[in-house]
Amino acid sequence: MKEQASFCISIDCELAWGVHEQISHKFIEKTLELDEKICFDLLSIFNEFDINATWAIVAGMLDKNNPMIKNYNPKAWYNPKIIEKIQNSKQYQEIASHSYAHPNFINFSEKEIEEDFQKAEYFFNNYGIKINTFIFPRNKIRYLNLLNKYGIKIYRGLDKSFYKKVYKYNKLLGKFANILDKTVPLSANSVSPIISLHHLIELQSSLLFISRNGYKKIITEYSIFSKAKKAIDNAIKNKECFHLWFHPSNFYYNTESQFLLLKKILEYVNLNRKRGFITVNTVDKYIS
Ligand SMILES: [Zn+2]
Repeated sequence: MKEQASFCISIDCELAWGVHEQISHKFIEKTLELDEKICFDLLSIFNEFDINATWAIVAGMLDKNNPMIKNYNPKAWYNPKIIEKIQNSKQYQEIASHSYAHPNFINFSEKEIEEDFQKAEYFFNNYGIKINTFIFPRNKIRYLNLLNKYGIKIYRGLDKSFYKKVYKYNKLLGKFANILDKTVPLSANSVSPIISLHHLIELQSSLLFISRNGYKKIITEYSIFSKAKKAIDNAIKNKECFHLWFHPSNFYYNTESQFLLLKKILEYVNLNRKRGFITVNTVDKYIS
């Protein structure tokens, strides 16, 4: 993949599964009101801009008897319509796994996580989906051996940005550094696939398409766009990949302006694509 610069998007598609350990009613209300529509609107945007993206799905969303179904509202945990729409999209979209029940791998034994893999495989199989790509819940990378055992070839690594390094050292400082990282329009990093353990490939991410509500309002559209634009330029210069990622929930607030900002980034990608400088890939295309 060294010969050509590339762009890819990965989406953690999980309804309310990201908050299942600590239920937030405010978040779930937003999920019920907006999540499906945001997924559908993203698909329309991808069709409009000829973008192939990777959707990492929590397989519990395909199980009408999943363990969360009785909490609050079943629609916060179960919605196969989203996957069906992704599968039938005019522009090809990759379906990846984001586990069955979004467990934090750090808190569970290998045996417990293997059960999660088995369930995920069962429900993806029911939809005729073969999984090549895995995105770890909460980006907690562990049990790479299980990925290999369940036929997965590639996973998303951590953000290649300075705030992640600070975060490792101190969580509060890390949060501050994340805001600083997004506020100051320095370039995000371009990435290259890395050979990992157990015959796997790791593809780090370059930039989180961050929500802009509450204290994050200080992050301007200008700073995000400049960061992305510079990163695309860098990817072209270095013949690397600019890997953008987000959750549908990153569009829960200021939805319209978030969509406009995403479109602006895609427009810049397409401008360079027309010139033959960059290609657009799903994550599975980085499997060597
Ligand atoms: Zn997640």
